[in-house]
Amino acid sequence: MSKQYETVIGLEVHVELATKTKIFCGCSTAFGAAPNTQTCPVCTGMPGSLPVLNRQVLEYAIAVGLATNCEITRFAKFDRKNYFYPDNPQNYQISQLYLPICMNGRVEIETKDGGCKTVGIHEIHMEEDAGKLIHDEWEDCSLVDYNRSGVPLIEIVSEPDMRSAEEVIAYLEKLRLLIQYLGASDCKLQEGSMRADVNLSVREVGTTQFGTRTEMKNLNSFKAISRAIAGEAMRQIDLIESGEKVVQETRRWDDVKGESYAMRSKEDAQDYRYFPDPDLVPVAVSDEMLEKIRASQPEFRNEKRKRYKEEFGIPDYDIEIITEYKHMADLFEAAVAICGQPKKVSNWLMGETLRLMKETETDAQDLRFSPEHLAKLIRLVDEKVINGSVAKEVFEVMFEENVDPERYVEEKGLKTVSDEGALRKTIAEVIAANPQSVEDYRNGKEKAIGFLVGQTMKAMKGKADPAAVNRILREACAE
Ligand code: ADP
Ligand code: MG
Ligand code: ZN
Repeated sequence: MSKQYETVIGLEVHVELATKTKIFCGCSTAFGAAPNTQTCPVCTGMPGSLPVLNRQVLEYAIAVGLATNCEITRFAKFDRKNYFYPDNPQNYQISQLYLPICMNGRVEIETKDGGCKTVGIHEIHMEEDAGKLIHDEWEDCSLVDYNRSGVPLIEIVSEPDMRSAEEVIAYLEKLRLLIQYLGASDCKLQEGSMRADVNLSVREVGTTQFGTRTEMKNLNSFKAISRAIAGEAMRQIDLIESGEKVVQETRRWDDVKGESYAMRSKEDAQDYRYFPDPDLVPVAVSDEMLEKIRASQPEFRNEKRKRYKEEFGIPDYDIEIITEYKHMADLFEAAVAICGQPKKVSNWLMGETLRLMKETETDAQDLRFSPEHLAKLIRLVDEKVINGSVAKEVFEVMFEENVDPERYVEEKGLKTVSDEGALRKTIAEVIAANPQSVEDYRNGKEKAIGFLVGQTMKAMKGKADPAAVNRILREACAE
């Protein structure tokens, strides 16, 4: 019988914090500016410049630490990680090795079978991002953009507690959820504001010792992560089965080719010569500061789930989807506060919103329509100013550009025609034009009435109340 193997995975996750300015200087962190326009002597590593810690970075790091059940280090320090590379103008990165800000945490993840599993967090540290090299524009030189140099990051280092790609993704989704709820980052893998390095080893089921691990970089989607895990586990098992050894090394996953290749092995791994940064004072976290951050933690998903059930009485399925993103939950709560109709708000979010999000590949956090406008739209339907299908049309425009539905309906003349005389006149015309359908209806074919309703709505350019059309049609056909 062939041997059974188990995959062991630990993650190092970098998250770009949503501060307005960089970690050690006042330069903007805004994305997309012209190269090197958001730089200063500090973030370009000029001699004699001195870093000063951005308080917001510390507060976000602590908030993430509290949300992941970490111990907060009350006396933390920054260390220099020395390496030479053109994207790193100081020739060292300011990071934390000896006394990181958060340690010994854990998060609960939900597994496929509906169970729960705990993933340990070894530590969370604060550090600065590097600049960006641009290689492919000229043949004989590379260019460097230091706008990203000094953008604040936290690195969340897990224990090797995960055993499958599903658990890894559940863990990443959990981190993303917590961090988005905190507003500490938008955590977009594709855009690099969340980056995961996967450490992976395999071992025979039943053994207690871990195998030799490799580290995979360059994973920028959940799909790539899943494929990389499957590919790497297979590669390591094949090596072991054929009597060879796994080499501890960093590998780059090529998602197009579906294979990884070695970047560097442990032998040529750098000695970073870490030492405490003499330019920065240690970080003393006061009781007061800690309490302040603790007190301002948001209501997280689990608490929201409970409250929504009690307060709004909407189905569990709706609650799951709405609370998956903080922005969606905020939208929901704000719209319900205005219109007082939780199920109707939920229906718009679950139905049209999700449909359009999928169609336009929009993230929940990038939804543009306001809760005020959604509440107004619901009122317009309730008061029969517009019918359901017109409402959907209006919503599409709201989804795109957050128009005021009231004004839009007014401007585009989309109001339901409330003049019953006009409706009766149209119906009389439809009946005259479709004698066969009227006959069919009279002979008990219920379907025929649907056709006639459709014809009437078409003639009214959609601006009729379907219930009224139905009622008057039936009356008229019966005559
Ligand atoms: P290093 O200091 O060399 O980067 P760490 O101990 O910090 O190593 O571990 C880095 C990451 O690798 C952590 O997320 C940890 O959980 C994971 N890890 C460590 N050993 C293994 C292993 N044998 N298999 C899988 N993952 C591992
Ligand atoms: Mg490490
Ligand atoms: Zn700067």
